[in-house]
Amino acid sequence: MDNILYAPWRDQYVAGAKHKECVFCNISKNINNDDLENRVLYRDEICFVVMNLFPYTPAHFMIIPHRHLQNLEDLPENEWLHISKLARRGVQLLKNEFKAHGANIGMNLGESGGVGIAEHIHLHVLPRFNRDTNFMTSIANVRVYSTDFEEIYNKFIKIADKYFKDE
Ligand SMILES: [Zn+2]
Repeated sequence: MDNILYAPWRDQYVAGAKHKECVFCNISKNINNDDLENRVLYRDEICFVVMNLFPYTPAHFMIIPHRHLQNLEDLPENEWLHISKLARRGVQLLKNEFKAHGANIGMNLGESGGVGIAEHIHLHVLPRFNRDTNFMTSIANVRVYSTDFEEIYNKFIKIADKYFKDE
């Protein structure tokens, strides 16, 4: 976690663990009804939104197509547009509900893109705060399942549909 602000797109989702199956496909299928455990915030027919269990900033989440694809260019355009739409709504959510001053959105594509799970594309959305260097110092040692993380999740899950779901 030391260089947390300097590698904003590095995935740590599978750090220290080898998954035979794709972790995102497992979340997508929700076979065991473990959306709560996986911190899924929203799902529809095209994609799902999940908290990053190794957040770079509080409320860091990912938008992930159900479709298991390594290449962004293979994603049907309507699905990409849908994910883009949710990303924009997610930025609004972060500003309104978490008082973010800005945001980063981005994808790592391919092994050389620094991605942890190269086989299944996913879009990161991270809130940014004007003084988040100081802010990060104060939370840098907070572990994944910290009280803060739980508080953020509990707040996020209550408002996710309001932002992501079509009316
Ligand atoms: Zn997958």
